[in-house]
Amino acid sequence: MQNRNHTSDVLIIGQGIAGAALALFLQRAGIDSAICEARPSNENAEGYFLYLAPNGMNVLRDLDLGAATRDGAIHTTGIEFYNRRGRRIAAMDNSGDTAAYGAAGVVLKRARLHRVLRDTVRDRAIPVHTNAKLVHLEQRSDAVEARFADGTTRSAALVIGADGIHSRTRSAALPDAPAPAYVGLVDSGGFASVPHLRDMVGPQRMVFGRRAFFSYTVHPSGEVYWFSNVPVATEPERGTLERIGAEGWHAHLLHLHEGDPEPIREIIGRTPPHAVDKWPLRDLPTLPRWHAGRVCLVGDAAHATSPSSGQGASLALESAMMLAKCLRDEPDHQSAFQRFEASRRPRVEDVIAQARRNGNHKIPNPVAGVVRDMLLPVFLRLGAREARRTHGHRIRWHDTRPRARNEQRDSTTGLREMEA
Ligand SMILES: Cc1cc2nc3c(=O)[nH]c(=O)nc-3n(C[C@H](O)[C@H](O)[C@H](O)COP(=O)(O)OP(=O)(O)OC[C@H]3O[C@@H](n4cnc5c(N)ncnc54)[C@H](O)[C@@H]3O)c2cc1C
Repeated sequence: MQNRNHTSDVLIIGQGIAGAALALFLQRAGIDSAICEARPSNENAEGYFLYLAPNGMNVLRDLDLGAATRDGAIHTTGIEFYNRRGRRIAAMDNSGDTAAYGAAGVVLKRARLHRVLRDTVRDRAIPVHTNAKLVHLEQRSDAVEARFADGTTRSAALVIGADGIHSRTRSAALPDAPAPAYVGLVDSGGFASVPHLRDMVGPQRMVFGRRAFFSYTVHPSGEVYWFSNVPVATEPERGTLERIGAEGWHAHLLHLHEGDPEPIREIIGRTPPHAVDKWPLRDLPTLPRWHAGRVCLVGDAAHATSPSSGQGASLALESAMMLAKCLRDEPDHQSAFQRFEASRRPRVEDVIAQARRNGNHKIPNPVAGVVRDMLLPVFLRLGAREARRTHGHRIRWHDTRPRARNEQRDSTTGLREMEA
């Protein structure tokens, strides 16, 4: 393929949740961007489901996408925790979230959230280049040149890595950054049609099973969204999980949940084996820096949490909004990146650490389990304030810091001057 050069103000690497949201907020700020996505098509139906917390929903509401996202999602009423014998040991009620935070959390398919964002990017005429897998970055004094797997290059005033937990942008711009860390659990999940469970619509149910942790949430249609977290002490080597095969893993899950309360095995049994994927869970507790020169990271590329926080997508949305806001308000890209990192780092690192602690509780231990059964309601009550802080976090798009009169934008970033 011909090697061509293209120029834009901001080049976003990755059209996942963070990349798409960032492009939309940048457009609102009057900053031109283009997205380069490694996948061959925009029609990305991959992934299972995720919880979008009130704080994430509020970011989507700011993009006028709240209603579109809630449509078809599961409107949960809370979380119920059960022990291995099926006894309910604790519960969290979310029914007051709309009144408390302005938005309630939902459980929805990742593909659905991705489609809402991706279609909006398309409708707002933001350029997206698919089949554009970043392989290399070269920083110059006035621009960054990005090279892609097909040999093409693009240059931009700024490059933002929104390319997920295994970010190539991160390894190119911050070569000393630590790799993601395995958290001791292999995740697995799927969707099953179990119409007779329709009357269980409401809470997410979490079960501390005998050998693995299981969660399920019922859609009003009778489709059940479920996952199982399987403790595996050391990270499986590359290829190990794939070699087990779909039928073998499905049988393994049924075995692991033997003796656990129904409908766990019924749900697994009603899921076609080929539709049950498995992957080691990793996080990225801290990075020395989130930016270098004209390159900055956002979303999982900067701060991946394990799903045990229920905050991965919500934090990615918040960070996308905050980064766009900083680029809008600060006089140059250095101060924008610094302010962005300083404002986000404490919050996201707190959530990632909390997710680690939550994940450790999922590793079965009969003795500790008895103590957990007794203390979980107490922990939940004590953790309520932390949950309120996490869910109540709100970034205000319009509360700009007053700009000094003589403050100038960096003439080399190419960012357009904006209305305040
Ligand atoms: C296919 C897929 C399925 C997922 N499924 C689930 C799920 O079931 N449950 C869950 O909780 N979370 C899932 N996640 C993760 C979840 O979306 C993120 O944790 C969270 O939403 C933060 O989003 P992000 O935009 O930072 O990263 P991501 O959503 O991971 O998006 C990163 C994007 O960057 C692209 N990309 C990666 N490398 C390059 C490169 N070198 N060049 C260009 N583009 C690149 C990827 O294709 C992807 O579109 C999934 C992510 C992906 C990519």
